[in-house]
Amino acid sequence: MERTDTLIVGSGFGGAVMALRLAQQGARVLVLERGRRWSVESYPSVSGRHWRWDERQPERHNGWIDFRYFGDMSVVAGAGVGGGSLIYANISIPARPDNFASGWPTAITYAALQPHFAAVQQMLKVTALPANQFTPRTRLLRDAAEAIGEGKRFTVLPQAVTFDSAWHPRRNKPYDYQHSRTWTNEHGRTQGTCVHCGNCDIGCPVQAKNTLDLNYLAAAENLGAEIRPLHHVRWLRPAAGGGYEVGVRDLAAGKDVQIFARRVVLSAGSIGSTELLLRCRDQYRTLPDLSPMLGRGWASNGDFLTPARYHHRDISPSRGPTISAAIDFLDGSQQGQRFLVEDGGFPDVLGNLLRRRKRRLLSAPPAGLGRHRLIGILRHMISQRDPLTGVMPWFGQARDKAGGVLSLGRSWYTPWRRDRLRLAWDYRAAEPAVEALAAMHVRLSHATGGQPLVPATWRWFRNLVTPHPLGGCNMADSREQGVVDHRGEVFGYPGLFVMDGAVVPVALGLNPSQTIAALAEYAASEMARLP
Ligand SMILES: Cc1cc2nc3c(=O)[nH]c(=O)nc-3n(C[C@H](O)[C@H](O)[C@H](O)COP(=O)(O)OP(=O)(O)OC[C@H]3O[C@@H](n4cnc5c(N)ncnc54)[C@H](O)[C@@H]3O)c2cc1C
Ligand code: SF4
Repeated sequence: MERTDTLIVGSGFGGAVMALRLAQQGARVLVLERGRRWSVESYPSVSGRHWRWDERQPERHNGWIDFRYFGDMSVVAGAGVGGGSLIYANISIPARPDNFASGWPTAITYAALQPHFAAVQQMLKVTALPANQFTPRTRLLRDAAEAIGEGKRFTVLPQAVTFDSAWHPRRNKPYDYQHSRTWTNEHGRTQGTCVHCGNCDIGCPVQAKNTLDLNYLAAAENLGAEIRPLHHVRWLRPAAGGGYEVGVRDLAAGKDVQIFARRVVLSAGSIGSTELLLRCRDQYRTLPDLSPMLGRGWASNGDFLTPARYHHRDISPSRGPTISAAIDFLDGSQQGQRFLVEDGGFPDVLGNLLRRRKRRLLSAPPAGLGRHRLIGILRHMISQRDPLTGVMPWFGQARDKAGGVLSLGRSWYTPWRRDRLRLAWDYRAAEPAVEALAAMHVRLSHATGGQPLVPATWRWFRNLVTPHPLGGCNMADSREQGVVDHRGEVFGYPGLFVMDGAVVPVALGLNPSQTIAALAEYAASEMARLP
């Protein structure tokens, strides 16, 4: 059996930080990542392909988006070397001091995490959108805050993107990738600068996003860490004499392998790490002593989106970085509810497709259609006013209560087996916070001449979708209260750690990736002190 010192499962915000910091401490690090190692050419934004990850058939569908439907709640995540940083909207902000008021292990305070927030900001080169590059959405957010007398709450959000101060929207073909300036980062990886193309969630075509594969993971690899993509971890069990044996499906080779590791860090995300441990406790019974709190205290982070139509205002939701700014109500001034209103863009998938097709069609025009006529048609289609150009996706997060429980259940066609991941989510836990956020979306829309449409999926069915799942293996001071301790070590299983969104025990009400990464920085610094 292959042996390694430290095995990390997953390469997102938790896993990437752990890989670098443990490699710096001298550990031989092996990272197993279920998704691919993406290249710019293979990103869905560029190739138009490889969209879907299917957890049940990962050999066949190992694409970009992992969408899990659990009934009232659905969860979106990324797959690939770099984890959620590939698909995310780049917003990188720390949790607030009052996020730590209760629910955390005693050792985790805002003060304890402060140096680690700073370390993450430095590694991810976090910066705000330059003032000369505000998007129509940024300006609408500012106008809306002023229109309701809350102008001071408007703030431009820091993000992990490299901007070029010379870029501006009035230049010829401003969103053309040719305007991106190429540079080499300190880890030896080639990047570019942002051209506001709006494709952040489906792969930055010019590498302006400072994704984890270009910084934390690149630095870990430079120190000798090995990253194996398309390696899906299925189970683990304690080995005789210490350490753990890990069962892995090599998706490219189509075979199962086992690896021994002295220390294992699960960083497969809130859903991934919790599912793995639930299977080990309840299906394979290899880790029977895991805390009864496993799967409990899961939160959706109150994510909510309200589209609003503007007839006399250009919003261009498909241009500019996906999120740029916020109106901050995290102080509880709205009947005690705490939330952050943000703008939310989305990629111009159809425009990307037409641009790709244009080149292909021009080299081989269909019979009966002359080249000039074809150029005319394509030009017309591409330059058409985007039908969604007047739509503002009001977005945001709220501090809801952690009302979700992940568990393994039976499916109707295999009732003798408990092997289906379930999420029981009580919407009432999120209702007051989400309703307050939705009401503010409506107020801001009306104040700026928009027509909001609160989605029927929430209005009528109380269904939500979250890209910010938190919890499932919650941190706590004891096994009775949670699954892992303040540095992520699993109660009852020395040398087994969880470090990702699964350990966050409360909804933050803001974009969580920097907090997850800072918790990993903290955990790694604590691990350095272990004998
Ligand atoms: C569309 C979208 C936009 C977002 N925008 C923002 C934003 O702007 N700001 C922000 O702060 N957050 C944002 N998020 C949320 C952010 O991406 C997550 O909070 C963050 O990635 C969670 O980090 P993590 O380490 O817990 O897990 P992840 O980053 O999801 O990493 C988990 C990794 O583990 C891998 N994995 C899972 N199971 C296994 C297995 N069994 N074996 C091997 N590997 C496995 C996964 O493929 C993945 O690479 C966004 C999310 C989405 C989906
Ligand atoms: S807007 Fe385009 S160029 Fe800028 S970070 Fe997003 S994907 Fe990259």
